Amino acid sequence: MELTSYDLKNFFKTVADLMEEEKDYLCELDRKIGDGDHGVTMSIGWQAVNEILDADLKDEEDCGKISVSVGKTFLSAVGSSVGPLYATGLMRGAKSGKKKNVMSEMDLVQYWIAFARGVKERGQAEVGDKTMVDTLEPFANTLEAKYEQTHDFFEAFEHAVNDAEKGMKSTRDIISKKGRSSRLGDRSAGAQDPGATSAFMILSAFQKFAQKRSAQVS
Ligand code: ADP
Ligand code: MG
Repeated sequence: MELTSYDLKNFFKTVADLMEEEKDYLCELDRKIGDGDHGVTMSIGWQAVNEILDADLKDEEDCGKISVSVGKTFLSAVGSSVGPLYATGLMRGAKSGKKKNVMSEMDLVQYWIAFARGVKERGQAEVGDKTMVDTLEPFANTLEAKYEQTHDFFEAFEHAVNDAEKGMKSTRDIISKKGRSSRLGDRSAGAQDPGATSAFMILSAFQKFAQKRSAQVS
């Protein structure tokens, strides 16, 4: 399986559609432990991305440039804490697509590992702080280890997304130590972290997108 620059743009469009569908749910999660805007934030950011995909990026074939532009667009459209976090992920991932109009399975594995680790580095959060890192770190570690072991992209990705889901769900029980929800202290326990949830949605959407793409080709 490989993804062309056209596929990559289509994947980002899929994310924009998904964030529209999940906007209310993500806001509802953020109302419990934050200020209730996570769904709106994601929607605004990804709609801005959607627009640029059909405009400035319409004829762009460099996967790296596409991902950098998507990150920059997200950053300038979004005012809240996830703006720089997701933007860093997208820009770090871009390195494995640099000057390529087709990305291999290995490029995609590197893309998502860099994405996850970029978010962590930018936000300086650790597993257990109740943030998107609780989803992204186990995802990246499993993806890296399983891919090295099996060289099977879909098997590795499936394990990684399963661990991402476990990480997301683990945020239900923990007390927040980072971001706005940390101000709630003990009261932040009992609700799933909105950022951990949107991060899981993006990873799982990529898994489905890649599966569909591979079924079309074979
Ligand atoms: P805001 O908190 O500014 O309202 P959002 O509601 O859009 O921003 O996003 C909140 C999410 O951001 C949290 O659920 C959490 O996952 C994530 N987050 C906040 N701070 C950090 C951080 N330092 N590192 C990683 N993720 C963070
Ligand atoms: Mg918020």
